[in-house]
Amino acid sequence: MGVDLTLDEQKLVDYSKEAIIKYNKMRHANGGIDTLYSFLLSDSGKIYEGAALEPAVVCGERHAIANLVLQESYKAKIKTILVADPVPYMQESGTPPCGACRQVIWQHANPETTVILLQYVQGKEGWTFPKLEKFTIKELYPRPYGPKEGLWDNWEPK
Ligand SMILES: [Zn+2]
Repeated sequence: MGVDLTLDEQKLVDYSKEAIIKYNKMRHANGGIDTLYSFLLSDSGKIYEGAALEPAVVCGERHAIANLVLQESYKAKIKTILVADPVPYMQESGTPPCGACRQVIWQHANPETTVILLQYVQGKEGWTFPKLEKFTIKELYPRPYGPKEGLWDNWEPK
């Protein structure tokens, strides 16, 4: 598909495709529909899963990161995070993380942390994955928000 993936990224993509098909089959059997999923590979080598709680309550990315924090710590870092969005047919570009998710990904990111956008389509024969894109979190979120250390150092009570 013309995107160079590291072995870790490829591992996450392979895992995600299997999980998306598994969960979609379960959801359909229970009367649900396809949804946005997120899967992340932490620096420790573990994979954490997330799904969007619709409509627009919690994003899949932040759900996956909450699972990362639950199992590891607030200091846990993301090696790569994948966002898989259902689309009716291949789109020019995939759905990127929203602003709040970019901030939270950045808080758990290294400078090299990557974000993979994977589109998936439900066809008659099952699900296919027509397009994959890769960005660094720095490309998606070049100017992150962060409180400045020392802001109150000169403050004295009157
Ligand atoms: Zn989001």
